[in-house]
Amino acid sequence: RRVPEDLATLFSNTEPLKLKGYQKWDVFCDAVQKIVNNPLLPADGKGVMVALRPAPGLRVEQALTLCRPHRMGDIATIADKRLVIFLSFCRVNDLDIALNHIFPLPTGDIFSNRVIWFEDKQIAAELVDMQDVKPERWTKPLPITTEPGKIINATHDGRHWRRYPEPRRLSADTGEQSS
Ligand code: C2E
Ligand code: C2E
Repeated sequence: RRVPEDLATLFSNTEPLKLKGYQKWDVFCDAVQKIVNNPLLPADGKGVMVALRPAPGLRVEQALTLCRPHRMGDIATIADKRLVIFLSFCRVNDLDIALNHIFPLPTGDIFSNRVIWFEDKQIAAELVDMQDVKPERWTKPLPITTEPGKIINATHDGRHWRRYPEPRRLSADTGEQSS
């Protein structure tokens, strides 16, 4: 059965609240826009958006590896040397509590500057500027290096790891090629 159009809109507008963690710049902007435009959510109480500039010597993609949201609806993105986080339903007075949950280090040690938006109009205005940032300036996250469940060729004897050597042929020039 077809979902009535207004209900479909309702569902699609609550989808952003099912996102968590890093999102590409455009996906992030789109999600926050949907949240801010959702008339079913409290006016000026939809959450807090914060832009953080890493301390000198720290790149924004490195700072992103420290950003670990737990709550559904808490999303982050990077571009233009800043990390932008949207914390769904967080009150502005609770921003530091939420950031302390999300970062393993005091945010003052990681970031040198921050800008906060929390009213619908402020967030909407900032989104217009954010949507103007060209894809060339979006920052790629660092590749994830520790893949869960990755098989390693080693066993642990209770004290040490022991790797098993694998035979490798260095030259194909052994006359064994099939014709
Ligand atoms: P969720 O909102 O997606 O949050 C996932 C996890 O993030 C939580 O797991 C908790 O470890 C952390 N977290 C999120 N928000 C807060 C917060 O304001 N303070 C603290 N200290 N930690 C937070 P947890 O506790 O196992 O909860 C699992 C899910 O149960 C939550 O998912 C949420 O859907 C629901 N839930 C639990 N407690 C509450 C609550 O007090 N209010 C509401 N509205 N939902 C709750
Ligand atoms: P709290 O942990 O001291 O958090 C106080 C307020 O900080 C929360 O109010 C929320 O506005 C904000 N906040 C904290 N952590 C997060 C976060 O990870 N993401 C976002 N978006 N906001 C965050 P709220 O939601 O009214 O919760 C009040 C208290 O209820 C929390 O105090 C916590 O003790 C409890 N609580 C709420 N949700 C959860 C949950 O999912 N799991 C657990 N274990 N406790 C929760």
